[in-house]
Amino acid sequence: MILSRHIEAFGVVEDQLAVGGIPVGRLALRVGSTPFFAYDRHLITKRVASVRAALPDGIGLGYAVKANPMPAVVHHLAALVDSLDVASSGEMGVALDTGTPPEHISFAGPGKTDSELIQAVAAGVLVEVESPREAARLAGIGSQLGIRPSAAVRVNPDFAVLGSGMRMGGGPQQFGVDAEEVPALLRDLSSLDVQFEGFHVFAGSQNLRAEILVEAQRRTVELVLRLAEAAPSEVRYLNLGGGFGIPYFEKDPALDIAHVGAHLGGLFTDVVSPAMPNARVMLELGRYLVGEAGIYVTRIVDRKDSRGRTYLVVDGGMHHQLAASGNFGQVIRRNYPIAIAGRVSEAPTEEVSVVGCLCTPLDLMGDQVRLPIAEVGDLVAIFQAGAYGLTASPTRFLGHPDPIEVIV
Ligand SMILES: *Cc1c(COP(=O)(O)O)cnc(C)c1O
Repeated sequence: MILSRHIEAFGVVEDQLAVGGIPVGRLALRVGSTPFFAYDRHLITKRVASVRAALPDGIGLGYAVKANPMPAVVHHLAALVDSLDVASSGEMGVALDTGTPPEHISFAGPGKTDSELIQAVAAGVLVEVESPREAARLAGIGSQLGIRPSAAVRVNPDFAVLGSGMRMGGGPQQFGVDAEEVPALLRDLSSLDVQFEGFHVFAGSQNLRAEILVEAQRRTVELVLRLAEAAPSEVRYLNLGGGFGIPYFEKDPALDIAHVGAHLGGLFTDVVSPAMPNARVMLELGRYLVGEAGIYVTRIVDRKDSRGRTYLVVDGGMHHQLAASGNFGQVIRRNYPIAIAGRVSEAPTEEVSVVGCLCTPLDLMGDQVRLPIAEVGDLVAIFQAGAYGLTASPTRFLGHPDPIEVIV
């Protein structure tokens, strides 16, 4: 069962779920209040190591800060990965504070403002341009400042890889430059005072099917080789994106990362390396590196029965962990794995609904889940909270205080 897998990953100390060896009850005292997010640095380290082990030599690993921008988390990851990808000037500031060299920070995202571009050029980070107009603005800012900007072109691929409800790339998008428009942009770049570095292709997110990722990577490389013919200079950077998913729900399979790594190895040795010998080839992962390393902890404030159903009402909710309520882009609401932190060795003997403290029926954290019998004051842990948690949630909704974040 998936739940025991999560409990096992974090560990049990004194019959309680633990984070970094500290029982969650004790951690709650240390943190000082509930709700809170707790991230396990050891699990993050282990995850990066397993990705490194699966990836062929020569493929770099980047962290997409958007997945979890808590400065201490980014700092921890900065020491483990080769680069950081940011998508706002706020994230860029966090990334620079880690001491990561600016040439190992890339700045993606549509709608970069002039002030963000000025900051990025001044910092010396790699700007991943998302449109011809943005490329021209970047060049203009570079000449104003007298600093030659580094740029890569983010490409919206001209293929879609489909399967099992997953889709990677293709179609109209606000991200990147359509593949068929890229050669013209590359010609323009050659007349602009911009240092062209290479390409970035990010075809999709939360993919659990290795064969789809493998196919997307193969077609990405094929596309980039074609586009490179029009490049103003040698390709020195190739960001293959990421899209590695984590299993949120009981029936989700875990991604077979060894399979992805093996194919990438062949692709790298046979195709990429001969054609682009000086390219820094990267994967850029967010969710996969941190998603499973975090829990959201919230305390039961009421227990009530309504017409045959039992509700555990907690002091947190969707305003902190929107995704667990099913309102973060999910089509069908399913339960995130959940546990009563202090009762992990007790049998799940009752069916309850765990609801947040917001005055809206949307605030449902666990719909008729089987749990050990829990009382007011018990701590509820919701797993898979390490990525797209706090910063992807509507914290102002209903005006409750912000939760604390801690890395252990
Ligand atoms: C969000 C994002 C990522 C990370 O996606 P994950 O699904 O979290 O791995 C990587 N690259 C870019 C450009 C992104 O916008």
